[in-house]
Amino acid sequence: MATARTFLRYGRILSRKNVFAASRPLSSLSSLPDTHEMLRQSVRDFADKELVPIAAKLDKEHLYPAEQVKKLGEMGLMCVDIPESDGGTGLDYLAYAIAMEEVSRGCASTGCIMSVNNSLYLGPVNKYATPAQKEQFVHPFLSGDRVGCFALSEPGNGSDAGAASTVAKLDGDSWVLNGTKAWITNGYEADAAIVFATTDKGLKHKGISAFLVPKPTPGLSLGKKEDKLGIKATSTCYLIFEDCRIPKEYLLGEPGMGFKIAMQTLDAGRIGIASQGLGIAQAAFECAVDYAQKREAFGLPISRMQTIQSKLADMAMAIESARLLTWKAAMLKDDGKPYIKEAAMAKLAASEAATNVSHQAIQVLGGMGFTTDMPAERHYRDARITEIYEGTSEIQRLVIAGQLLKEYPAS
Ligand SMILES: Cc1cc2nc3c(=O)[nH]c(=O)nc-3n(C[C@H](O)[C@H](O)[C@H](O)COP(=O)(O)OP(=O)(O)OC[C@H]3O[C@@H](n4cnc5c(N)ncnc54)[C@H](O)[C@@H]3O)c2cc1C
Repeated sequence: MATARTFLRYGRILSRKNVFAASRPLSSLSSLPDTHEMLRQSVRDFADKELVPIAAKLDKEHLYPAEQVKKLGEMGLMCVDIPESDGGTGLDYLAYAIAMEEVSRGCASTGCIMSVNNSLYLGPVNKYATPAQKEQFVHPFLSGDRVGCFALSEPGNGSDAGAASTVAKLDGDSWVLNGTKAWITNGYEADAAIVFATTDKGLKHKGISAFLVPKPTPGLSLGKKEDKLGIKATSTCYLIFEDCRIPKEYLLGEPGMGFKIAMQTLDAGRIGIASQGLGIAQAAFECAVDYAQKREAFGLPISRMQTIQSKLADMAMAIESARLLTWKAAMLKDDGKPYIKEAAMAKLAASEAATNVSHQAIQVLGGMGFTTDMPAERHYRDARITEIYEGTSEIQRLVIAGQLLKEYPAS
């Protein structure tokens, strides 16, 4: 059987070219290409060995999984779709989705940290960075030694990201940042942030620009760690900018491109959050099936009772349909086709599946589901965030409807 370590070798064999060669057309996707199946098994083995045994402790003690993040880096999973020419693993987005599901099945917090570094930080930075910026802000972030973060939300605006009130003013050879970013995942551990700030208020969202800010930098401080319902092994905090001066060269892309960069990043990132939700849902489902076969009531395993069977059937169906939507969105992205609607559908379906499946898993476990002796309650708490970050479920519905109305213009 493939192990996590053997994937290191597979990782080198699996060049982007080979993965594409092995890919099947969407219409015939009844199973994964062999390459992706191998990746799935390798990451699952890693998660079973390295994440499942410690996930409860990380959650309970709010411990950042530094060692595990480093191991993900060694496996090439902290830069899955960054091209090999830039030092990344060079796999496709379907591979990223699969790896993200398996890591999150083992530990949702670790999946979240992996997701921020891959899709929220490295994704946009590598796409828009100059060669000099790549040297400083991409290359050291590929190995799991360093992680990045993404600072878009503010205390006054989350869904309405275009209303950013953090400002950046050019002063000689420096940009000077003032304002507060809220809810920033990896805020404590990150060595750099991509920060969105207004450079021209009159242009509203078209006046937002993106900046690369190393951590620490004078004038940048951190708020307290938020005490959260779930993904407790991640840090979430304010980034506070008070006359924070960065070199002029740390502007990412052109002035005014920030909102576009942020929205593109979230479109892709949603495929990762969908996969995170799938991993949590799958873990909750496996816990429920296992328990149902062992627990007896009225002289029978509860898995023989039709009410429990119908719960298991609904759980499995919700997971499988969300998984197909997620893989479809990833494959569209890999094929260079439009995927905004499909990514939003995948995130919506998978996050709601995660919430509903983990809710029902607790029900299948009865009283045991309500205790921290079993992982079901953690899955239930971890699932909830997937309906909120990178666009709430309400925002996903708006995105989907917006795309649908373009497809079906009024006649
Ligand atoms: C644990 C955690 C980690 C996070 N990590 C990051 C991060 O790393 N970087 C980052 O930038 N942000 C991060 N966020 C912020 C997250 O993306 C926002 O919380 C999210 O986008 C929602 O914004 P909000 O909290 O301001 O809610 P609001 O925007 O205030 O929304 C409140 C409610 O109103 C609804 N609503 C708002 N607008 C509409 C509308 N037009 N139509 C219908 N309903 C609407 C929302 O769906 C929601 O139900 C994180 C948040 C959390 C909780």
